[in-house]
Amino acid sequence: MHCEVCGRQIVGKPYKAVIEGAKMVVCSDCAKLGSAYWEEKPQRRVKRTAKPLLRISVSEKKQPPALAEALELVDDFSLRIRRAREGMELSHEDLGRKIGEKVSVLRKIESGKMTPDHRLAEKLQHALRVELLVPPSEPKAPSAALFQPREITLGEVVRLKERKTEVTKERKQ
Ligand SMILES: [Zn+2]
Repeated sequence: MHCEVCGRQIVGKPYKAVIEGAKMVVCSDCAKLGSAYWEEKPQRRVKRTAKPLLRISVSEKKQPPALAEALELVDDFSLRIRRAREGMELSHEDLGRKIGEKVSVLRKIESGKMTPDHRLAEKLQHALRVELLVPPSEPKAPSAALFQPREITLGEVVRLKERKTEVTKERKQ
């Protein structure tokens, strides 16, 4: 870096001096000519525009509750709840107190006699750290069924072989 006044290479720290009203980067000798020093102000405009963007992403994070409305209760919810509750060594009474629900309701749910509504399923999910609500966009069972006919099971291979031997036998007769 060279001094903007005398043109010499600046050894050490360059000085930012205001010389005759102009902001200059100068050597220590020329800095003495300056009337004041100046500093480059960090450009905060970029950060200011970044803030609203952050707010948008926060509001986007608030979307899951709406998404959760579309979630479906797992089929084996009663089993999952029971296993999770027993895993945490909680009695029906303990769990009832924890989530503010009647013990009789919890018993019915665990025996499969009652289906928890969305609100209760969410409470149980959080309290027991178990997955009860899943997105319906993943129909695992039907898609697996679609693929099954393409796969030839070992039993089918054996049957095919048997059919072939039967055919050859018939031909020999
Ligand atoms: Zn200089």
